[in-house]
Amino acid sequence: MQFSEFGVSDDQKALCQSVRDLCARFPETYWRGLEKTSAYPTEFIKALTEGGFLAAMIPEEYGGLGMGVVEGGLILEEINRSGGNSAPGHAQMYIMGTLLRHGSQEQKDAYLPEIAAGKLRLQAFGVTEPDAGSDTLSITTRAERKGAKYIVNGRKVFISRVEYSDLMLLLARTTPKEQVSKRTEGLSVMLVDLRQAVGNGLEVNPIETMVNHHACELVFDNLEVPCENLIGEEGQGFRYILSSMNAERILVASESIGDGRYFVEKAIQYANQRKVFGKPIGQNQGIQYPIARAYAAVESARLMRDKAALMFDAGENPGEQANLSKLLGAEAAWQAANMCMDTHGGYGMAVEYNIERKFREARLFMVAPITNNMVLNYLSQNVLGLPRSL
Ligand SMILES: Cc1cc2nc3c(=O)[nH]c(=O)nc-3n(C[C@H](O)[C@H](O)[C@H](O)COP(=O)(O)OP(=O)(O)OC[C@H]3O[C@@H](n4cnc5c(N)ncnc54)[C@H](O)[C@@H]3O)c2cc1C
Repeated sequence: MQFSEFGVSDDQKALCQSVRDLCARFPETYWRGLEKTSAYPTEFIKALTEGGFLAAMIPEEYGGLGMGVVEGGLILEEINRSGGNSAPGHAQMYIMGTLLRHGSQEQKDAYLPEIAAGKLRLQAFGVTEPDAGSDTLSITTRAERKGAKYIVNGRKVFISRVEYSDLMLLLARTTPKEQVSKRTEGLSVMLVDLRQAVGNGLEVNPIETMVNHHACELVFDNLEVPCENLIGEEGQGFRYILSSMNAERILVASESIGDGRYFVEKAIQYANQRKVFGKPIGQNQGIQYPIARAYAAVESARLMRDKAALMFDAGENPGEQANLSKLLGAEAAWQAANMCMDTHGGYGMAVEYNIERKFREARLFMVAPITNNMVLNYLSQNVLGLPRSL
């Protein structure tokens, strides 16, 4: 079926087509094959990098395509819609914003052209800790300044793609929580060169999860990070991370929308073709209505994502719209995933049909990079003016 392309310019349509062409070289058998050994999609990420797609949002002066979140979102949406998975490459798009907006000129000159050229991978983002969880302001991983270095000690959990990245953006505490005047201060962001760090103060322990996502536990034991790797001002890291979160929410919502479109398309195809009781199952309204409802949910989420992305690229602060996109996108994809499973009957669970893999992947976005409950907290308290629960 043909989804609406309302509001998509001819250039953006051409961009989507080139992503579709690239994805056609990596069919679902490719993604399924990776699962057997929990392998990273190295060839796919290489092709995506060579095509310039991972550098879409890097300004042209640094060798990128100089596009906005609108285009970044369309790229990720098309990948997920094709049956693929953007997650092994998506972080480079949104982590880069922190470097771009808050990094020094020297840092931008040193890293961005290399990232744009595909010589340097910035795929890892280290925030979550076992004892803090969603309460980011309670992280305790400590970066203590000693001369020209920070000495980092602590633990992170579920940090993705560390094994397949050269750099990691790390959020760590530079001032103990008890000593800060404002609870949002005392955290700093710094770039960790994983090529030097692993085995020299940084231990990486892969965590097996229900998705092929390469998440790891990290143990920092006196890891040395040069002070020149600090992004922006010491103690202001939480503010910097927050400022890139709108882009993260919009891009992740785009992946969910891509998943949703995949499920709707697969379900329509199967409902038209599968015959039971002498007629296509799609003739039963018990099959039709859930497909139509999922379609409606995905298309509505897409409208909110479009609004958020346009506002972001216009320089506005779309906190509300970015959070709404993330919530609506994740929920619509999950609704579509369940619908697609039901439409396929037992075959939805057969690995060779791919639905169960996409089902697991779509579920992740209800939880990460932020749980939907935390999005609801944001909307309740920051948008609707309800009393704070935390
Ligand atoms: C596969 C995978 C990859 C990941 N990759 C990364 C990564 O690359 N980098 C990174 O930093 N993190 C990563 N994460 C971590 C992810 O961001 C966290 O799992 C997520 O933010 C939730 O934290 P938690 O798991 O500790 O849940 P908790 O914070 O323990 O929450 C558990 C449940 O309680 C609810 N809850 C908690 N507090 C409240 C409240 N005040 N109000 C309402 N409900 C509440 C939550 O919504 C959730 O449903 C990844 C996670 C997974 C599973």
